Amino acid sequence: MREIHRIGIIGAGVMGRGIAYQAAISRFSVVLYDIKPELSKNAVKQTASLIKRQVEKGALSPEWGEEALNRIETVDSLEAFRECDFVIEAVVEDLEIKQNVFRQLDAICDGEVVLATNTSAKSVTEIAAAASDPSRVCGMHFFNPVHRMKLVEVVRGLQSADWAVEQTEKSGPAIRKRSCPH
Ligand code: NAD
Repeated sequence: MREIHRIGIIGAGVMGRGIAYQAAISRFSVVLYDIKPELSKNAVKQTASLIKRQVEKGALSPEWGEEALNRIETVDSLEAFRECDFVIEAVVEDLEIKQNVFRQLDAICDGEVVLATNTSAKSVTEIAAAASDPSRVCGMHFFNPVHRMKLVEVVRGLQSADWAVEQTEKSGPAIRKRSCPH
């Protein structure tokens, strides 16, 4: 199973930035893309504010917070996802837009990289159908606000491969790791 160092997140809205924060404080490198680049930049500013509040509350050490912020890179093109080991899609809840994103990701990302969707209500199977290899697509449903909600649901599409589900199940707890020394 591929080791995960770098996580790609598409969509820098409420969920995308929450997942980016959680992944970064769990020591993953994060690549964040939004179709509106200004929203990715804004997401980093909001993440910086969240980190500041967490440091003030004593939930994160200042060093840990600073390192986490430095681990988030914003990019203007999905091409940067070529280097990612795991990808989570958190764009607007629109099937056609999600399918278009998965079509592109499938062409860009290495075959052993899981492509996960954070969809709340769309069919994982239908989203996956846009990929030439739907077996690597899984649902990975975080809850809002991501930094407070501990649950992550793993949703199997009809064609999801066992390895992709296992990788997603393994990644959930890893992203929720909060062993931050004070
Ligand atoms: P949001 O509207 O806050 O953010 C969506 C982002 O996607 C926007 O920044 C938008 O610019 C971007 N986007 C749109 N098209 C894009 C594209 N083609 N490529 C890249 N970025 C694109 O939405 P949200 O609340 O973060 O929800 C995102 C996903 O998470 C949805 O599928 C939603 O159902 C799911 N979800 C939401 C919640 C919640 O409480 N908000 C909880 C769990 C899951």
